[in-house]
Amino acid sequence: MDGKIGLEEHFALEETLQDSKGQMPDVIWPELRERLLDIQERRLRLMDAHGMELMLLSLNAPAVQSVADPARAVDLASRANDYLAEEVAKRPDRFQGLAALPLQDPDASARELERCVRDLGFRGALVNGFSEIAGVDGPVYYDLPRYAGFWAAAEAADVPFYLHPRNPLPQDARIYAGHPWLMGPTWAFGQETAVHALRLMASGLFDRHPSLQIILGHMGEGLPYSMWRIDNRNAWMKLKPAYPAEKPLADYFHANFYLTTSGNFRTQTMIDAMLEIGSDRILFSTDWPFENIDHAADWFDACSISEADRVKIGRTNAQKLFKLDAGKA
Ligand code: MN
Repeated sequence: MDGKIGLEEHFALEETLQDSKGQMPDVIWPELRERLLDIQERRLRLMDAHGMELMLLSLNAPAVQSVADPARAVDLASRANDYLAEEVAKRPDRFQGLAALPLQDPDASARELERCVRDLGFRGALVNGFSEIAGVDGPVYYDLPRYAGFWAAAEAADVPFYLHPRNPLPQDARIYAGHPWLMGPTWAFGQETAVHALRLMASGLFDRHPSLQIILGHMGEGLPYSMWRIDNRNAWMKLKPAYPAEKPLADYFHANFYLTTSGNFRTQTMIDAMLEIGSDRILFSTDWPFENIDHAADWFDACSISEADRVKIGRTNAQKLFKLDAGKA
């Protein structure tokens, strides 16, 4: 279909490029590097060739989230957002922005989100999982009390928050020891991000801020397949769940989450997601440049769903969620 909108679509600054190198084989790196640095040329040609009208762009991972010095994280996020705003301004009909946020400093993140939405016209935020913070041992997740003020500001800003994956820190990745192929998109990204999302649901965050909307990529990081069991547990024991939230976790999943197709181009998986969360809460995305636009678009354009659902998932759900002007994008 023409007019598709994608919202997990990345770029890099020269200084964040190496974050995407990871365990990427040397033979692949020149191609990925070129894809990450390009915005206006090859990317646009591919969008034209495969019926993508608009990309909401975001910085690569983990980038800001791995900068342990809060002042440096604040500075990097602000410069990345300014650069993205300049690129979006060249083709606002084809590109819009999602803010990078320095969650090492929750108050600065609230201010940066407000600046990005009000002054730069960004449509939301995309954050690469937990933050590393100098002086704090281990990963810092956003269900912690220190983020109460940030979430209030995010709800007030009335824009979605995309929780994007990153790999666990080495001390939390021992289950993968000796199996580096399990890191990244194979498995570790999904596990890491799904647990973070469950922590948010269980924390009571959405009781306090019922209009907050969180987006998960990769068809929900495995959660649609698991939500029933997460709430059912050992139902015969008739014990109340030992978490602060007031409701079953699936209630928050259904009311406060959207999923995208990024990097998960599989009809069977999307049908499961549609049965769990509904086609109103699924959005097309590619995960360019880590996946191919043609792989995403060719699959989506032909997959066996109704044409009404294809239009919603491919375009109109994103228009509504991000308040994109009708007719323009
Ligand atoms: Mn991605």
